[in-house]
Amino acid sequence: KGERLRLPPWLKTAIPIGKNYNKLKNTLRNLNLHTVCEEARCPNIGECWGGGEYATATATIMLMGDTCTRGCRFCSVKTARKPPPLDPNEPHNTAKAITEWGLDYVVLTSVDRDDISDGGAEHIAKTVTYLKEMSQKILVECLTPDFRGDLNAVERIALSGLDVYAHNVETVRELQRHVRDPRANFDQSLSVLKHAKKVKPSLLSKTSIMLGLGETDAQVYATMKEVREAAVDCLTLGQYMQPTKRHLKVDEYVSPEKFQHWENVGKELGFLYTASGPLVRSSYKADSLKIQLL
Ligand code: SF4
Ligand code: SF4
Repeated sequence: KGERLRLPPWLKTAIPIGKNYNKLKNTLRNLNLHTVCEEARCPNIGECWGGGEYATATATIMLMGDTCTRGCRFCSVKTARKPPPLDPNEPHNTAKAITEWGLDYVVLTSVDRDDISDGGAEHIAKTVTYLKEMSQKILVECLTPDFRGDLNAVERIALSGLDVYAHNVETVRELQRHVRDPRANFDQSLSVLKHAKKVKPSLLSKTSIMLGLGETDAQVYATMKEVREAAVDCLTLGQYMQPTKRHLKVDEYVSPEKFQHWENVGKELGFLYTASGPLVRSSYKADSLKIQLL
């Protein structure tokens, strides 16, 4: 231990750049939207944005600024106790921009804003409502904070008109304290997911787990089972990648075969959709969920 692990061959991907990719990139600059795809330098960007001439495109848009009130040990987003105030025009402007952009599936995510009384729930919900008013065809997924377990905030978003309610448990139960900000925990995250599904059973609920942080197989299995028992419909599992030297080290590069194994386990456990692979991210091919929604 102490040494950094070498990158295995299956993670050395060349990013394919398509026509669509450049088009989206240019429009983004003009619209002043921030995407996780770019900020996190996501390796799937060519695929998600690329599509083809007629294929669909997905992107993950960040709301409420680029500064988080939390500091998870795996995440490279900036941290501050009091980030700048929310832009009241953001919900409307973002919805308008996404509609003009012509996406058919969008993931809205955000930093955690523990400095705001409702954690920004109203702000996120408004964005969804505007989007759904402006575009008939768009499907919306929200990847939300835990709102410190505030179920009113969860309900506000669950009833906003979204299609997929996503919230990530990030890692197995045993590694929560090691990986996430101390204000987050496994049971709080499960209660968020359960509540969203309870107030609106027709939405799809979704969560994501990173592997390679030192978890055991038994812990992964138990976590998947608990998540399924909390009525979560969709699960993604992907490789944790260390964003900078100051972040948690990768404990293991999990093999593609092992990821395939977890995908099979997901099916056995009764998830409607399981995506598991080294490059899978919480929003990777999020639009595959369309089949379940239309
Ligand atoms: Fe990053 Fe989310 Fe943790 Fe904030 S709450 S540090 S954005 S993972
Ligand atoms: Fe963006 Fe998610 Fe696709 Fe990465 S996987 S490019 S973050 S939509």
